[in-house]
Amino acid sequence: MRRVLVANRGEIAVRIIRAAHAAGLETVAVYSDADEHSRWVQLAGTAVHIGKSAAAKSYLNSAALVEAAETTGADAVHPGYGFLSERPGAAKEFADAGLTFVGPSVSTIETMGDKAAARDAAKRADVPIVPGSGPVGDVDEALAAAEHVGYPVLVKAAAGGGGRGIRPVASREELAEVLPAAQAEARSAFSDDTVYLERAIDGARHIEVQILGDHAGNVVHTFERDCSVQRRRQKLIEEAPAPGLAAETRASINEAAVRLARQVGYVGAGTVEFLLTPSGEFFFIEMNTRIQVEHPISEAVTGVDLVGEQLRIAAGEPVSFSQDDVRIRGAAVELRINAEDPDNGFRPTPGDLSRLDLPGGPGVRVDTGFVAGDRIGPFYDSMIAKLICSGPDRDAAFARGRQALAELRVEGVPTTVSMHRRLLDEPDLRTGAVHTKWLEELLPDST
Ligand code: ADP
Ligand code: ADP
Ligand code: MG
Repeated sequence: MRRVLVANRGEIAVRIIRAAHAAGLETVAVYSDADEHSRWVQLAGTAVHIGKSAAAKSYLNSAALVEAAETTGADAVHPGYGFLSERPGAAKEFADAGLTFVGPSVSTIETMGDKAAARDAAKRADVPIVPGSGPVGDVDEALAAAEHVGYPVLVKAAAGGGGRGIRPVASREELAEVLPAAQAEARSAFSDDTVYLERAIDGARHIEVQILGDHAGNVVHTFERDCSVQRRRQKLIEEAPAPGLAAETRASINEAAVRLARQVGYVGAGTVEFLLTPSGEFFFIEMNTRIQVEHPISEAVTGVDLVGEQLRIAAGEPVSFSQDDVRIRGAAVELRINAEDPDNGFRPTPGDLSRLDLPGGPGVRVDTGFVAGDRIGPFYDSMIAKLICSGPDRDAAFARGRQALAELRVEGVPTTVSMHRRLLDEPDLRTGAVHTKWLEELLPDST
């Protein structure tokens, strides 16, 4: 592996370019019409225009990406998150073109990217799953399955992601109505109408475990993250480690994630997501077969360079450390700064970023793909930056978070900064007493 094509944009493209250069690799950036003058284009060794601004014409156009790799002599592709990162078809196209895909095998993406198939794998690995069903084909099957599962249930698209493709259902009548709509939506959004049912678990925390597997069969974890602060099933604040977790719970949830990764012969970086109930029971919900947005908080508390490890593993090298080498040191919190207006139902707020003054200092890391003067277009995700604040303990990490928010100046577009300023002082968050519905209950007008 010598030259990596970065098949993504924004902060994760910058993150990958940095890791690749630090590993002595060359990089190729790609950009759409909208992103010609972007930061990642300037940082990469070379850059290739791949199409129009709409994602379907550029960052989702696998043929254009293969061609960009061929014309620049890239021998590997890093997909980042979102876009093509969890599409087995794209991974196969890259492999067929002789490119190393920085991620798991096509068949692993196929299995673990399908939430219903992933539940079966978890069962085989003796990892507890949320009570639910297999795929349900029609209303009669769904109604019969729901009798066993128990209302309220969630109708989930097997191919869903990014908080989309999940619908809560309270009763038989509602299920009969929602099922066909959910199938139609899944077909158009994910080109796959497979749906299944899960019991809706109230008051739970979202706990996820970062794992790394290599070609030699080593599987290690770098502990867990708590991503319970969500709106519409999308994460806004994440923490590592999960606050207040009993030592036995931490050990068993981390072990369960490793067991599942071993079961499927996982190679690469991945995240195993769970719901943790107040009584300490946990249930697998899904696996993300890619690097995640919130990976830096794990890096902050373990010192592991997760993107660097992804590149090593893809090049055929073993993970650079063993399980016994990894310890949690201190605590870290990530705040997602999105171009969204928290006072207006979090509506996206594209516009010109007239000012972007970033905070700094010990324990403050800012990952962003933008500079002042850039335009935040309507075409892609609304995330502008991530603030990753860490310290010797949780209070110190939060204090640095408050200071970082005080220094941060974003002008030109409304952002989630004002919400974060408020949330860091919320008593429930300070004590770690949050669950996945906490934010929506706190901001009832936001949904
Ligand atoms: P993470 O689990 O890393 O926090 P998110 O769920 O926030 O990931 O998703 C990461 C990015 O990928 C977001 O930009 C999200 O919109 C996008 N994404 C994830 N899965 C899908 C999917 N199936 N379809 C479309 N976009 C997706
Ligand atoms: P996605 O692929 O969109 O990330 P997930 O299955 O990971 O979908 O679920 C996203 C979020 O939805 C979870 O973090 C949690 O807040 C909520 N959720 C998912 N499954 C359940 C469930 N069975 N009960 C309650 N909430 C759930
Ligand atoms: Mg998820």
